[in-house]
Amino acid sequence: MNHQARLQSLQQTVESKKLDGLLISHPPNLRYLCGFTGSTGALLVNSGESVFFTDGRYTEQANAEVRDAKIAIGRKAPLTAAAEWVERRGRGKRSRVIGVEGEYLTVAARHRLADALPKHIRLREAPPLVEQARMVKDAEEVEAIRAAVAAGARLFDRALEVIRPGVREIEVAAEMEYAARRAGADAMSFETIIASGARSALPHGRASEAVIGSGFVVCDFGVILHGYCSDRTRTVYVGSAPGEARQFYATVLAAQEAALAEVGPGVSVGRVDRAARKVLQGKGLAKHFTHSTGHGVGLEIHEAPRVAKGQQEVLRPGMVITIEPGVYLPGKWGVRIEDMVAVTERGCEVLNSTHKEFIVI
Ligand code: ZN
Ligand code: ZN
Repeated sequence: MNHQARLQSLQQTVESKKLDGLLISHPPNLRYLCGFTGSTGALLVNSGESVFFTDGRYTEQANAEVRDAKIAIGRKAPLTAAAEWVERRGRGKRSRVIGVEGEYLTVAARHRLADALPKHIRLREAPPLVEQARMVKDAEEVEAIRAAVAAGARLFDRALEVIRPGVREIEVAAEMEYAARRAGADAMSFETIIASGARSALPHGRASEAVIGSGFVVCDFGVILHGYCSDRTRTVYVGSAPGEARQFYATVLAAQEAALAEVGPGVSVGRVDRAARKVLQGKGLAKHFTHSTGHGVGLEIHEAPRVAKGQQEVLRPGMVITIEPGVYLPGKWGVRIEDMVAVTERGCEVLNSTHKEFIVI
């Protein structure tokens, strides 16, 4: 991964925001900028140099992984060590402003940080600069995501072997997760969702003890492979499917296809969201589509941009988002269909699209 280019570009952004430095502690951002995959560290991005702080437990890992930043190992908490470094460097200088990732810092951590700094160095909540950079993936990242998607897709084959009337949802999830680990996944992207029968109307129905009977089964799952996440949903029908179920499925699929058809460079995410809703409105189902159409995916399962109503972000080549409309009739059933898609120069590439025909088990 090209950490040097990422750091250099962030250094320029930090300067343009009139910050004297930016202090990063969110692990996915650390991984993105300097390659560190551990859970405790802080990276100070300055105009001149970048310094990575961690404690003694991570000495070997930091030396092996961190690229293009100076490494400082100490006994104190990384953020405190970073503050003290700024303090030493800032002695006798004019007032300075250090940006922090307010979203991820606890109030207590922020107080500790402020206490470790002299009066003339102030902290300011910085805009999500790293998250904005992470939205656009380079070719290497898209390749990593493609591999994660391919690994995730194979889990659905396993699910199809296991889903039967009388099997508990949790058993299906367990089989999928076992297959994922055997295939080399770092972990699951999130807790596998297997939601059957009336539970399929729960958009976040984690696999439970419920026994699968006849009706829809929503399977939403993904793996993390070499740090990058995948995310996909397929919905199948167990038992003999009434025409109403087939029509319902066809409508959700039409909404998903309509949104996919909109994806391309220069298009606002709000417009993509609208395309899915419009199809559902035509069938009187829009009010049962209760979440956003999609989200960015990368080092984190949910990242920018949000593909939601009224969102202004404009798609650019390299962005990777999900398209996942779902329609839920409480107490009855729900269907969601989700694919990941990469924005290209000319349009988009649906990542490893397996068929979406109505599957009856
Ligand atoms: Zn999903
Ligand atoms: Zn998703």
